[in-house]
Amino acid sequence: MMEVIESLQTIQQPWISKVSQRLATGVGIRQSFQKQITRFYDLIEEAVVTGDPKWLNPLLDEWVEARVKNEPDNRVQTLTPILDQIFQISLEVIREQLTEREALELLDSLFPIYTHSISYSSQREADLYIDQITTRLNDAHRALERVDKTKSDFIAIAAHELKTPLTLIEGYSAMLEEQLRAVKGHPQAQILLKGIDNGTRRLRDIISDMIDVSMIDNNMLALSYQPVRISYLLESIVAEYQETVNSRRQVLDLKQFTGIQEMTFADEERLFQALQNIIANAIKYTPDGGSITIDGRLLPGFVEIIISDTGIGINPVDHDIIFEKFGRLGKVSLHSTSKTNFKGGGPGLGLPITKGIIEAHGGTIWVESDGYDEVEFPGTTFHIMLPILKQPPDGSITEMFRTSAGSRDFGDIYAQHLESSG
Ligand code: ADP
Repeated sequence: MMEVIESLQTIQQPWISKVSQRLATGVGIRQSFQKQITRFYDLIEEAVVTGDPKWLNPLLDEWVEARVKNEPDNRVQTLTPILDQIFQISLEVIREQLTEREALELLDSLFPIYTHSISYSSQREADLYIDQITTRLNDAHRALERVDKTKSDFIAIAAHELKTPLTLIEGYSAMLEEQLRAVKGHPQAQILLKGIDNGTRRLRDIISDMIDVSMIDNNMLALSYQPVRISYLLESIVAEYQETVNSRRQVLDLKQFTGIQEMTFADEERLFQALQNIIANAIKYTPDGGSITIDGRLLPGFVEIIISDTGIGINPVDHDIIFEKFGRLGKVSLHSTSKTNFKGGGPGLGLPITKGIIEAHGGTIWVESDGYDEVEFPGTTFHIMLPILKQPPDGSITEMFRTSAGSRDFGDIYAQHLESSG
């Protein structure tokens, strides 16, 4: 051991000057570098004396941190090539300054220190890079959340602002109709008024979708639970669409699946809206002559409702997107504005609302489809899992769901907004 320490002292000065010469260019840098490298050498000595290479860890930490901080985007800049170079220089100096026996003995003690330094610094680098990437991912996530919130704020405010002028149009056209009827004039005027009426009704539907979507976004969807029979809901929806389906020569088949007669506590109106959305979509995205089947099954604690169609299908990459706000697919200009015409589009709020309603009930919804194809018509299947509740949750009629602190503040503003607008 004494000899090893003596050898270390022999090579110290030549080693330090050689390492500084090779690795540090420029006089200014060389001075501070020399200090660092002297400290490195002292720690190597400590490690050799104690047989514990961990002595180097604090200095390696500093080096790694400095490099990762200075080169955040350049992952190739690791400490390894520098440690390699230092080791190479050590070999040179040892060969020049020591006898063969001294050299071998010293190398014996230096080698474990070298391997420790490499593996320790690589590990630290990996950790730091992971930290950095995590931070950047979190930042990106926060930015996305901000964008989503802006979108949701915009919808709420736009919906509110649109309601007032719409009410004016509705009021004036009702007055106009009354006056025209009184003077028994203008038979064509009735047709024109019907056109205005259709337009305003459609606009009201869209505004109400916008309000629903922003309530869901802000966890403000209030459900009023009451006993509901699944069969009753599905049968009323089927009856509602029978005429449309006939006119499009489609078959709408409601199976008597096990579970259809279940009673559960749910918000009947909201659940109706959700199921109606899915069934209307199935009709809309299935060509004339196709079929829509409503089936299901009873599972422990749940009833699963399965709505499948023989329509255009949905590309698997879009299976998540369609449940997002404005997540409708295809070109805006290709959409006609109809609820049941083939491919007649809406603003793309139907599925986010449906998902919000189902999730507010403690259920889940997902879609299966092999792909989108307007020649082969692979079809689409929506699955809805609805918990069977024998009593309203928490004995209350109002359920707030998905409480997230982030959207609270806007939720309050929104509530006041709605209150002041009546
Ligand atoms: P939209 O108002 O456009 O119908 P939705 O939110 O109801 O909006 O649906 C989003 C998109 O999902 C639709 O634009 C359509 O591309 C796709 N989609 C929904 N249901 C079906 C279905 N049964 N078959 C094929 N595509 C569908």
